[in-house]
Amino acid sequence: MSDTAKLGFDTLQIHAGASPDPATGARQTPIYQTTAYVFRDADHAAALFNLQEVGYIYSRLTNPTVAVLAERIATLEGGAGAVCCSSGHAAQIMALFPLMGPGKNVVASTRLYGGTITQFSQTIKRFGWSAKFVDFDDVEAVKAAIDDDTRAVFCESIANPGGYVTDLPTISGIAHDGGVPLIVDNTSATPYLCRPIEQGADLVVHSTTKYLTGNGTVTGGCVVDSGKFDWSASDKFPSLSEPEPAYHGLTFHSALGPMAFTFHSIAVGLRDLGMTMNPQAAHYTLLGIETLSLRMQRHVENAQVIANWLEDDDRVDYVTYAGLPSSPYYDRVQALYPKGAGALFTFAIKGGYEACVKFVDSVEIFSHVANLGDTRSLVIHSASTTHRQLTPEQQEAAGAAPNVVRLSIGIEDAEDLIHDIDQALAKATS
Ligand SMILES: *Cc1c(COP(=O)(O)O)cnc(C)c1O
Repeated sequence: MSDTAKLGFDTLQIHAGASPDPATGARQTPIYQTTAYVFRDADHAAALFNLQEVGYIYSRLTNPTVAVLAERIATLEGGAGAVCCSSGHAAQIMALFPLMGPGKNVVASTRLYGGTITQFSQTIKRFGWSAKFVDFDDVEAVKAAIDDDTRAVFCESIANPGGYVTDLPTISGIAHDGGVPLIVDNTSATPYLCRPIEQGADLVVHSTTKYLTGNGTVTGGCVVDSGKFDWSASDKFPSLSEPEPAYHGLTFHSALGPMAFTFHSIAVGLRDLGMTMNPQAAHYTLLGIETLSLRMQRHVENAQVIANWLEDDDRVDYVTYAGLPSSPYYDRVQALYPKGAGALFTFAIKGGYEACVKFVDSVEIFSHVANLGDTRSLVIHSASTTHRQLTPEQQEAAGAAPNVVRLSIGIEDAEDLIHDIDQALAKATS
């Protein structure tokens, strides 16, 4: 498609990046189930390896089905380019990889997906990287945390497990004053509810496993680059601004401009880390993404109805949905997330840990799973599962205290979901 800037979201979620297959006319994007691609001749092969011509070499690097998905997500996010990966966690490593090095750190919000807190506080240490966790509502603390070795600031737009939304324009301003990019995990919001690049983000990461695919079939991830960050403004990002020894001395930023990060992620990141998305996964995600806006509208509508109902129920202590007027983030949602606060939130049951465990064992329509963003409604007790590895203080800070249950509201009939919650609450608190 030529001028995507003029087209609306609903059109782009179906068409961006795709055109009828040139060989067969196939209307739906085919699954190019192939490992390698035949070179026209030796010169063509050399041009591809030199990045002088864009094309397909080997599916660890690029694949036509996966490329359609990358372009679709980049377009929906308003980015210059994107690279797809095998999972959301892979996408986070891929986003940090060109920026970080031994001794370097990322300043990260305390309100993150539990797995991300573990990845950042433990696993990245093996690479010599570290994370500094800060309350992103404390603007001075975020400023103070950025030091000479900081290479990125990281947060979620609408945070998992829910109830918190980040003030992205303020945080991006702080990151840029510190000379580093802002990376936003936009998994829970999706580009339908929030386009972080428009609010100052430089890189956007996704777990496509969740709402983008939308039906709980495949894991995947994506890193979108805005193409706007000036990697050459300082000496902090030598992989992009100086000759890259891992790619025969190519200087990615001067050679590729706004596509520097994306090409580095493919030519070096996917080549050497191998966190590749397979074409089957890309196919399922492409199918899901076609209905993203319709699903998100219903997800938000249902979440609002159910959060209201829960807040009025005597068996419930509190509900942390940022779409409720009682939420400290309600005004921020109206200003920065006008299409809604997502469909992921927690609520506290009177009766604490025991009642929460009984609740998840008593639901019938809701499924007790470690996933979110499915068409199906899902429930989990974060403190005994996804956030189990964290200290009690980290659990509390992440919004996963022992007395709260997390709901991922699906697109079923809201009335049926309320009946299910009602009967499970009765059992949990009897
Ligand atoms: C699930 C999730 C991840 C991790 O994604 P995977 O695809 O499971 O690796 C990261 N961030 C958020 C907000 C998530 O919900």
